[in-house]
Amino acid sequence: MAGEQILVVEDNAKNMTLFRDVLRATGYHTLEASTAGGALLLATEHGPSLVLMDIRLPDVDGLEALRRLRLDERTASIPVLAITAQAMKGDRERFEAAGFDGYLSKPVDIDELLTTVELHCGRRGALTHHFRVGMIAQATRSDVPCSGIEIEQTMPSASDASARVGFDVRVEC
Ligand code: MN
Repeated sequence: MAGEQILVVEDNAKNMTLFRDVLRATGYHTLEASTAGGALLLATEHGPSLVLMDIRLPDVDGLEALRRLRLDERTASIPVLAITAQAMKGDRERFEAAGFDGYLSKPVDIDELLTTVELHCGRRGALTHHFRVGMIAQATRSDVPCSGIEIEQTMPSASDASARVGFDVRVEC
């Protein structure tokens, strides 16, 4: 059975790579957009099961993109999770009040990401024993202070099919 399709809206290439790799390794399919406009087109065309929405985007922000998704009956009911680096007190309440179904703050905790995605997709994270994370990348956006990306992965033993692949990831931007 095919995994759910998740639309990732993120303008930082390193973050996009991280989200894509983690989601695909967990068994999801991904669609990718780096702008709100691109996200609206993909959402309308494919009707993904879930949208992960960065808030700071190059065209309009994630709040406006959410508003536009909700206005179109083809995309109005798709769950949308906000992902933002604007970690300020009250953010969760503010984004949920704006209509987001959930909220993840950067640096994103991958276990929390997968738990939240699973909750909103109604799907348990699948396993892969073949995923290799060799990525220690340096985020290079000049307009946002970034600490880079580091991933450590713990592989469960091949015989332990119930174990979950563990990630410890910290990303800024
Ligand atoms: Mn961004």
